[in-house]
Amino acid sequence: MPSRRVLADAVVAALRDALTFWLPIACAGCGLVDVGLCSGCRAALIAAPHRRRTEAGLSVISALEFSGVPARVLRVLKEEGRTSLARALAPVLGSVLADVVGEDAVVTTVPSSRAAYRRRGYRPVDLLVRRSGWPPVPLLRSVRTPRDQRGLGRAARRANVGGVFVSRPVRGRDVVLVDDVVTTGATLDDAARALRAAGARGVVAVTLAHTPRHLDRAGRSDET
Ligand SMILES: [Zn+2]
Repeated sequence: MPSRRVLADAVVAALRDALTFWLPIACAGCGLVDVGLCSGCRAALIAAPHRRRTEAGLSVISALEFSGVPARVLRVLKEEGRTSLARALAPVLGSVLADVVGEDAVVTTVPSSRAAYRRRGYRPVDLLVRRSGWPPVPLLRSVRTPRDQRGLGRAARRANVGGVFVSRPVRGRDVVLVDDVVTTGATLDDAARALRAAGARGVVAVTLAHTPRHLDRAGRSDET
């Protein structure tokens, strides 16, 4: 029998869907009424590739800065279930993937946590990657759940998200690892470690957005 919590989640999701249906639509970027995404906000979703290296040396290329319009649009896609926004965001991710994905490379995604998947009923990153034209190959799965990141220092956060993933075999292949937002890169580092342990030749990461430096220290709870 489903737990009370799962039932409660289902009721909340159903109510949210009903409200989304009845409430007038507003721009996900600026709140302008009667439009899902206005032309001004659409114009703000242009890839400005940003490259950085994680603490473990993994190269990460991000399409957008996670602030302003792009951050609001991605949040609405993820937290309000407005999946139609993937149509506007996917080409931005796709333009970076087009530069990065080599001929024999496998494209895969960082899996959502089980709780996030239950809450949303879909995987935003997989949706974005699929829409961008690269069907993701499911390689990674979580073998344990990290605890809440809130209140943890940088080193403790890294330890908390270490050893979370295992990968299916990918011997000798280059892998492009995709996630929605990179903050410290600790989750990407752990996913890349799992891919290399499974035989990946080279791993490079691509994210839709990167958290600007001044927000790194804010200790966001859900992204790493
Ligand atoms: Zn707008």
